Amino acid sequence: MKKCLKNPIFRIISEIVSNDGIPAFVVGGYVRDFLLNRKTSDRDIDILVVGSGIDLAHKFANEIGSDTKVTVFKTFGTAMVRYHEHQIEFVGARKESYRRDSRKPIVEDGTLEDDQKRRDFTINAMAISLSRDTYGEFIDPFNGLSDLMFKTIRTPLNPDKTFSDDPLRMMRAVRFSSQLDFNIENKTYKSIIKNIERIKIVSKERIVDEINKIILSDIPSKGFNLLEQSGLLALIFPELDQMKGVEIKEGKQHKDNFIHTINVLDNISKKTDNLWLRWAALMHDIAKPKTKRFNPQLGWTFHGHEYWGAKMVPDIFRNLRLPLHEKMVYVQKMVLLHLRPIVLSQEEVTDSAIRRLLFDAGDDIDDLMILCEADITSKNEAKIKEHLDNFQIVRQKLKEIEEKDTIRNFQPPISGDIIIKTFNIKPCKEVGILKNAIKDAILDGEIPNKYENAFQFMLKKGEELGLEKRT
Ligand code: ATP
Ligand code: MG
Repeated sequence: MKKCLKNPIFRIISEIVSNDGIPAFVVGGYVRDFLLNRKTSDRDIDILVVGSGIDLAHKFANEIGSDTKVTVFKTFGTAMVRYHEHQIEFVGARKESYRRDSRKPIVEDGTLEDDQKRRDFTINAMAISLSRDTYGEFIDPFNGLSDLMFKTIRTPLNPDKTFSDDPLRMMRAVRFSSQLDFNIENKTYKSIIKNIERIKIVSKERIVDEINKIILSDIPSKGFNLLEQSGLLALIFPELDQMKGVEIKEGKQHKDNFIHTINVLDNISKKTDNLWLRWAALMHDIAKPKTKRFNPQLGWTFHGHEYWGAKMVPDIFRNLRLPLHEKMVYVQKMVLLHLRPIVLSQEEVTDSAIRRLLFDAGDDIDDLMILCEADITSKNEAKIKEHLDNFQIVRQKLKEIEEKDTIRNFQPPISGDIIIKTFNIKPCKEVGILKNAIKDAILDGEIPNKYENAFQFMLKKGEELGLEKRT
């Protein structure tokens, strides 16, 4: 295990604690990821000391440079120091006991073993000694190594205790399963099902952190399937849960929109690590349950689901404590526009329709195309190819029109101010009418995107509205 301690940080800590005669260990994610061969170069490092974590942090900071900053979290009895690309967390070994209504434990000083027992999973409870005389010794009381080899998520203690003590661990189980492509051991999984209601005592911020990590895993459907099957999804994200299931009427069946959605999320995850574009994939059909209708001629329809979906985004983001700033607006825009390229690819593509799409999507047009391509989840290979070929045509057209007309960040060449001055009028509704007419004329290709053409067009339209040019 000495290989895990290649980083000079560990020697420095070892020197300090050995001189003081205090046992210390590297624990948790760093050990796990080292053994899994996951990238550990800029990983957080968790140091466990049988004594004061805060004291050790100060001594370590002094050793590496007297002006090194130590961030102390007094309530948790922990401290953090940044060193090169690492964030090093110093924690005193502790024993925890819990009250039923809170995930905040009553904490006492404890031994290494007490501390390993309070950890969430066996794969996160492995420790490597940093004391000089036992340097590199591997301490794995719950066989985490074997669980790593068999890709298993298992709690060190009775799972009912682990999950009931801190229900966030249920989310973490699903998240690690999705992130590492591990399976949750049977007894552990059954205990999640039994304890799902306890998730209600966990703050939404912590829950959404885990959801985000699931979304960012290579194959996020793994996590979402687990959330759905365990019953957690209905409690933490009911709008997504309500998408599952199929209905058959008069022999006509619609697809399972939950399964479709997580397939789209998997598809898009092969193309992008952008969390918000992945969120857009997760939300693109969110209003399908709300807009579902049966029509004997047409079968199942979901008219306007893109519009209603976009309207649902702010409430869902607020509920989940996701940011309400430009990221939310971006997801909303993606949801609203997600059918537009599909419609274009099915029709004769006119320049004017392409210009309008470019205008509405702006700089997000490339992301929108990625979303639309991910949205094709047919089982029929020929059909997928046909759709993708059509999208290729749309992409080509977008490129041609953009090169010709630069619509992406299009600002109509005539401002409200020019209109007001030209006709010598006060700000009034005619100004808006004219501005819109100019924008439409350019997007529809009636006039080129040039000042002179737009000005002439404005004069003509103004006249039609009964306005006179100031002389
Ligand atoms: P990552 O940083 O990739 O999310 P990690 O394993 O480092 O993974 P952290 O949340 O940083 O996870 O926590 C560090 C360690 O602290 C974990 O490995 C685990 O041993 C322990 N731990 C964290 N959260 C909990 C919890 N809710 N219950 C029990 N132990 C926990
Ligand atoms: Mg960590």
